[in-house]
Amino acid sequence: MSFLKDAIAIFKKRELVFIESYKESENVYTFRFEKEKDVTWKAGQHGLFTITHKKIKNGIRPISVASAPAENVIQLTLGISDSPSEFKKAMLELKQGMTVKMSGPVGSFYLKDDSPIVLIAGGIGITPFRSILKQLEAEGNGAGKQIHLLYLDSKKSFVYKDELDGIANNTSITVSYLDSREDLQQEIDKLSGMYQNNGNYYIAGPKSMVESVSTQLQSNAISKKSIKKDVFYGY
Ligand SMILES: Cc1cc2nc3c(=O)[nH]c(=O)nc-3n(C[C@H](O)[C@H](O)[C@H](O)COP(=O)(O)OP(=O)(O)OC[C@H]3O[C@@H](n4cnc5c(N)ncnc54)[C@H](O)[C@@H]3O)c2cc1C
Repeated sequence: MSFLKDAIAIFKKRELVFIESYKESENVYTFRFEKEKDVTWKAGQHGLFTITHKKIKNGIRPISVASAPAENVIQLTLGISDSPSEFKKAMLELKQGMTVKMSGPVGSFYLKDDSPIVLIAGGIGITPFRSILKQLEAEGNGAGKQIHLLYLDSKKSFVYKDELDGIANNTSITVSYLDSREDLQQEIDKLSGMYQNNGNYYIAGPKSMVESVSTQLQSNAISKKSIKKDVFYGY
């Protein structure tokens, strides 16, 4: 059913009008686009974005929508190295009023039920979780729930930290900022020991990080069906 919904959504292409971009931290940039009234998505989903202002090879990327449906904007945040791909160079060239195309949003990386939730982000993998947490806060849904965000960033940049701290202050959601894999492993052992298969575990980030966290969870007897993954290729 959700496959069918995705298949329909993917054919829905729309032009998004660029508003602004800004640097979040070293090698991380946010891009904001106008949100037309009829655009909807589930917090955590991603769109397929295409460059339209020039012809480039491989001009399409899956990117999580980092804003919440409750916000009045479509926001993307990208890791952009000092020698960016053609796609990311083109993103940095965007000027107010220019457009990109978006298909979707699609995917099953969104919260399904009320059970304890452990969100695990590696670096730029924080983007779908910003959307999820902002939406919970906007709906007044974060109160009294057992929701934990484990945020690993070895560079200690912690993009969105101020916003995440604000959400943690307004809700029962906890946020742990971690800068080593060992600390992350410890937190995962603690939470998976506490919630076991009553919890749902969401992992987003670079492939190696997502796979190693998933392996750790499974070796802690967490079943595959309690684990959801968003693998960000290219990091
Ligand atoms: C669901 C989802 C959500 C994402 N959300 C974000 C986001 O919010 N922010 C963000 O910065 N990035 C996100 N990404 C990753 C993004 O799509 C790009 O892959 C990434 O930003 C690197 O793009 P690039 O243009 O710098 O490098 P690229 O030119 O795309 O590639 C860099 C390297 O990765 C390899 N590669 C690319 N795609 C694949 C693939 N599908 N399988 C195996 N290898 C591959 C290439 O061969 C190359 O070696 C997301 C990816 C997915 C799947």
